Amino acid sequence: MTYKILLHVCCAPDATVPWPILIDEGHNVAGYFYSSNIHPRSEFSRRADDVRALAKILAKDCIVDAYMPVEWLDKVRGVLLSPEGGPRCAACFRAQMEGAAKAAVSGGFDALSTTLSISPHKDVGVINAVGEQVCRGYGLKWFFRVWRKNGGFALSVQRSAEMGLYRQRYCGCVLSIRKDGTE
Ligand code: SF4
Repeated sequence: MTYKILLHVCCAPDATVPWPILIDEGHNVAGYFYSSNIHPRSEFSRRADDVRALAKILAKDCIVDAYMPVEWLDKVRGVLLSPEGGPRCAACFRAQMEGAAKAAVSGGFDALSTTLSISPHKDVGVINAVGEQVCRGYGLKWFFRVWRKNGGFALSVQRSAEMGLYRQRYCGCVLSIRKDGTE
């Protein structure tokens, strides 16, 4: 069975494996980029440009959501200073999945998936639980895969380099910059 899937794309490099796999399986797949967790705006623009570039390479549509960092701050209020991988990230995943679910419903999609599970740094149990719950609330099929399995992450690194896509050095929010000491 094939579906009209909206693929939540956390960044272009991470989508270079999941997106082609879902297309090869016969699904009709558009991308969706949530952006409001990303700091600063110039970083958001750089990542958004490459999501659009990847969609163009794959000849698929993509939606880039409006950049509303204050709204994201409201979604993580109360857990903002928790360590990376903890409640702040769970709340951030929920904000991203809710943005994607709203876009999926308004675009007439049947199902939602995410590229987040390709990262070796993300808790796939939390991603799956949040995605499943959000999809239930919006009447969508949750199309979850652990993309990092079977060398998926290494392949995404290779493909994104071949495609000349920008690979960021921190997850996205201002706190993840400070933790990595990259800016
Ligand atoms: S580290 Fe990444 S997943 Fe966690 S809150 Fe920041 S942007 Fe979101």
